[in-house]
Amino acid sequence: MSLNAVRPWRSIDRRKSRQIHVGPVAVGGDAPISVQTMTNTVTTDVKGTIDQVLRAAEAGADIVRVSVPDEDSSRALKEIVAESPVPIVADIHFHYKRGIEAAEAGAACLRINPGNIGDEKRVREVIKAARDHGCSMRIGVNAGSLEKHLLDKYGEPCPEAMVESALEHIRILEDNDFFEFKISVKASDVFLAAAAYQGIAEATDAPLHLGITEAGGFVSGTIKSAVGLGNLLWSGIGDTIRVSLSADPVEEVKVGYEILKALGLRHRGVNIISCPSCARQGFDVIKTVEALEKRLEHIKTPMSLSIIGCVVNGPGEALMTDVGFTGGGNGNGMVYLAGKQDHRISNEEMIDHIVAQVEKKAAEIEAAQAASDAEAAE
Ligand code: SF4
Repeated sequence: MSLNAVRPWRSIDRRKSRQIHVGPVAVGGDAPISVQTMTNTVTTDVKGTIDQVLRAAEAGADIVRVSVPDEDSSRALKEIVAESPVPIVADIHFHYKRGIEAAEAGAACLRINPGNIGDEKRVREVIKAARDHGCSMRIGVNAGSLEKHLLDKYGEPCPEAMVESALEHIRILEDNDFFEFKISVKASDVFLAAAAYQGIAEATDAPLHLGITEAGGFVSGTIKSAVGLGNLLWSGIGDTIRVSLSADPVEEVKVGYEILKALGLRHRGVNIISCPSCARQGFDVIKTVEALEKRLEHIKTPMSLSIIGCVVNGPGEALMTDVGFTGGGNGNGMVYLAGKQDHRISNEEMIDHIVAQVEKKAAEIEAAQAASDAEAAE
C-alpha cells in the first residue's frame, strides 16, 4: 500500500490530461511531471549551447528549450540536437520558416503560436513539417504578448483573455487534425497565471506546461515560482514545468525539482532535512549542510538524509530518513541508519562518513530496484 493511500492528506489528484510526447519524454496522462529549462546562450554558439544543455541534463532536466530566432540558429540547432542527451524544444516566434527548419533539424517540439505565423497556408506547412518529423508543439500564451483584438476586447491582460487566446490557437491545430500539443498560459503575476491555468485546465484536456514567466532573480524568482506553481501542482494541475529565473539554467532545474519534491510529485537525489541551528547545536549545521549539498550532488537515487544539530529534534527526524546524523556532546554525534541509532562518529570525520553512508545506501536502493525490475520482467 502506498504512503499516500494511508495518508490521504498527503495525496494530490492530478488532472486527467491526454498524453503527448516530446521526443521520448511522455508529457501528460500518468507520466511523471517533467522538468524543463531553456538555454541562455546565443544558439549559433553551438559549443556553448551544447555545454549548457549537457549541464542542465546532468542536473536532471528532462527537456531543454533553445531559441531559434534566425536561419543560422536553425542550422546550429541541428548540431545541438545531435549532441543532446535530452529532447530539444525549438522556441519560435512569428517566423513560420523557422518552425519548418526546426522540425527538419530534429527538434522534438516547437514552441510556436499558430495564430501568429501568418495565413492558413503557412500554418498548414508548419503542421505538416511537425507531423512529418514526429514533432509536437507547445502553444505558449503569455500575458505580456496577448493579441491586440483580445486586449481591445478585455481592456487588459486577464485570465479570460489568456484562455481565449489559447483556445484560438488550439482551434487552428485541431482544425488541421493536429493533437500533439501542450499549452502554457504564463504571466509574471502569480494570481493571473494561476487563474489562467485553472481556466484552461477546465476548457481542454491537453497537457499543461506550467511557468511563472519573468519570475525574477534566484531568490525572488524561486519563491514566486514555488508559490505560483506550487499552488497549481497541489491542486493537480500541471504536466511539465519550467522555472524561469534570471540565473543559470542549472539552477532552474534544481528549483523545479525542489518544488516537485516538496509536493512528493517527483523524487531525485538526496532530500536533506536539516534544522536552522541554534545555540544548542553540537556541530556547525549550516556549514555541514552546505558541504554535504555539494558532496552529494552526484547522487541521483531518491533518498533522505537528516542533519540535525541536537537531540531536541534529531532522533524524531532521523526516524523518517534513510541516513541521519544528530549532534551530541563532546565533539561527536549519533549516526542513524534506516531510522535507528547505529553508531557514533566524531564531528571531524562526520562529513566524509555521511557521504560514504549515503553512497552505500544509494547503491543498496539501486540494487534492490534492479532486482525488482528483473523479477517483474520475468
Ligand atoms: S534541532 Fe537543536 S540545534 Fe537544531 S534548531 Fe532545534 S534546538 Fe537548535
